[in-house]
Amino acid sequence: MGIAVITGAASGIGACVKARLEAQGYDIIGIDLQGETISADLSTTEGRQAAITQTLEMCEGNIDRLVLAAGLGGHIEDGQLVARVNYFGAVELLDGFKEALRKTQGRVVVISSNSAQMRTDPESDIVRCLLDGNEGQAMQYIGDSHGALTYGVSKHAVARAVRRRAAEWGQIGVTLNAIAPGMTETPMFRGAADHPVIGRSVEAIPIPKTRVATPDEIAGVIEFMLSDTAEYMQGSIIYVDGGTDAQLRPDAF
Ligand code: NAD
Repeated sequence: MGIAVITGAASGIGACVKARLEAQGYDIIGIDLQGETISADLSTTEGRQAAITQTLEMCEGNIDRLVLAAGLGGHIEDGQLVARVNYFGAVELLDGFKEALRKTQGRVVVISSNSAQMRTDPESDIVRCLLDGNEGQAMQYIGDSHGALTYGVSKHAVARAVRRRAAEWGQIGVTLNAIAPGMTETPMFRGAADHPVIGRSVEAIPIPKTRVATPDEIAGVIEFMLSDTAEYMQGSIIYVDGGTDAQLRPDAF
């Protein structure tokens, strides 16, 4: 089947994607803090560059499927850390693997979130700096903000980073899309749901389907987005959230 690279493969949604792609016969290169093929800290420039270099060596410059799932939740206090992992930990790897994906006419799914459109100012200085790739300036604007603020901002920016690249990447044969899951039963979700303060805002988010997702339900949609059937999808942000976004923003899409 080829080579699939998955960040955040050690846990949650990334681990479920890994199991599904392994079952299809892909050779997996997992990237995570520990316990995967490559151990790397995607919150730092050095960690991201090491992950890119080691991956390209292992796959000999050819990547067939890429899933960028590594992330930190909005219950983490350090808002800068959340933005570093969720935005730069995804976008720097995406760009670092562009040529390897072009060579195979590969397919990519980036994990955003349905919180990308919740209380996020699309014109904010933080969003602008993230999209400009200006990490230092973005961190100055974030200052000592909590991850509860930067989670949605980073997920908003990462979805727009996908949209901004979709036309050019489509022309060179790379299928590039994002998924926007709603609340999904993983260690990250547990951390937020059980947090004494953040947990209250998590509880307040409506879910028309009346339950959170299982990580394998989200992985199943990602598997479809990586399949031949979905080859014509390009630059799409796919909400898989039990109807939350439709309930909160019925007239926007
Ligand atoms: P998870 O905590 O189970 O998995 C996240 C993985 O990212 C972990 O294995 C963790 O070690 C890794 N990671 C964290 N920081 C890292 C770093 N600095 N360097 C390398 N790896 C790092 O969480 P999950 O819910 O499976 O999250 C997967 C993706 O789905 C994330 O991007 C998350 O934002 C997104 N998401 C999750 C939910 C949800 O409710 N669970 C909802 C919407 C979007």
